[in-house]
Amino acid sequence: MISKISPAVRPTLLQIYLSWVDAWLLSAKEPQPPKEPLLTLDELSSIFQDENIHKLMNHKTILQATRSFRNHNGKNMISLGGTQPPSNDMTDLFSETYDPQSDCNCDKTKPKGSTHRQLTCGAINGMVSATETVLHTQDEWHTDLFTAPKLQAAVDELILANTDLQLRLDTCQGPSTADLIPKVRAPDRRPNPGVDGNAIIGNQLYPTAEQIKICADAKYFGVIACGAGICDEGLARAIADSCNDILIGDYCEAADAKGLKLLQQVGGAAMAFLKLCNMSGRITDWQFSNLAAYMIQCRVLGYFRDHERPYLPDGIYGSHMTGLGVHRHIDVAAFHGVMTASVATGLECCEKDFMRLVDACVYVNDFVDFRGDTMRKQRENVLLRGS
Ligand SMILES: [Zn+2]
Repeated sequence: MISKISPAVRPTLLQIYLSWVDAWLLSAKEPQPPKEPLLTLDELSSIFQDENIHKLMNHKTILQATRSFRNHNGKNMISLGGTQPPSNDMTDLFSETYDPQSDCNCDKTKPKGSTHRQLTCGAINGMVSATETVLHTQDEWHTDLFTAPKLQAAVDELILANTDLQLRLDTCQGPSTADLIPKVRAPDRRPNPGVDGNAIIGNQLYPTAEQIKICADAKYFGVIACGAGICDEGLARAIADSCNDILIGDYCEAADAKGLKLLQQVGGAAMAFLKLCNMSGRITDWQFSNLAAYMIQCRVLGYFRDHERPYLPDGIYGSHMTGLGVHRHIDVAAFHGVMTASVATGLECCEKDFMRLVDACVYVNDFVDFRGDTMRKQRENVLLRGS
């Protein structure tokens, strides 16, 4: 009798993860789940441990596991990072419903000044409403790196970004320095079949569940590259997919309904997979709880749109943003890379070190985006605002 699975046939976590995503998508399509015994949370945790994970190679078992997870979450039995399970769609990262698009009359009313905009802008109102929900339920997610006061400061900073608009550029060297600035040009980053790589080859080199180019860029260069080589590839892929709500926040207007749904579902599948990896000891509480808190805060900021910007005259704009990392510690999306690096090395970082890392990321990011941010009248760029 064979009592042990040979290492040669033991599945990799990447195989299990990819099968998990497929099973999760299949289970979402079932109008009526079959009547079968559910796996308890202890059984789900156990099946994700090394000695049992081969059982998930059976498609019935992995489908049963996804159904069981969905069922337990539906009964509010699964917490994310906090002491309480999620109570609403903003803090429930398994909800697969995040869509920050909002109706807004800014186009029709041509807002003048942030006070007017704040009262009428659907995007701003959506962010404020999401903030209130999340702050009222902070025991579901709060961590040392991602706190309620820091989230409130981030939201305030974005709301006030366009206050006190100066229509004549001035610097510490006097307004005449503006005459010396040459016309800024920047590459057009929109899809262009004339220069873009072949999509079929790109999807082979950088496989993603969604097969959307922007997903490959964000996931491979922003997440998987951190700790690549020493981080388990299955965990790296799951961590990368768990950032789908950031992509939704950035690109939901450009996505079609099918693409948006796929992003939502794969993101939920990845978070569920990582939760079970956390319960079975594959990733630590520090890693998972900070990931969850960070994603919830990203969801809040994902509502923000600067609808005033198209009405600004061409030019270079600074802002009244109050520090390097105030809202950028969320939206520069550094924690996903920290997470893969932490999984790879076993190390953690304190809040002070994380914010120092964010500052460095902001500088590098804004150097790279300097010309594009100028063209787009992006006011948060630290070089443009002279920080
Ligand atoms: Zn608006």
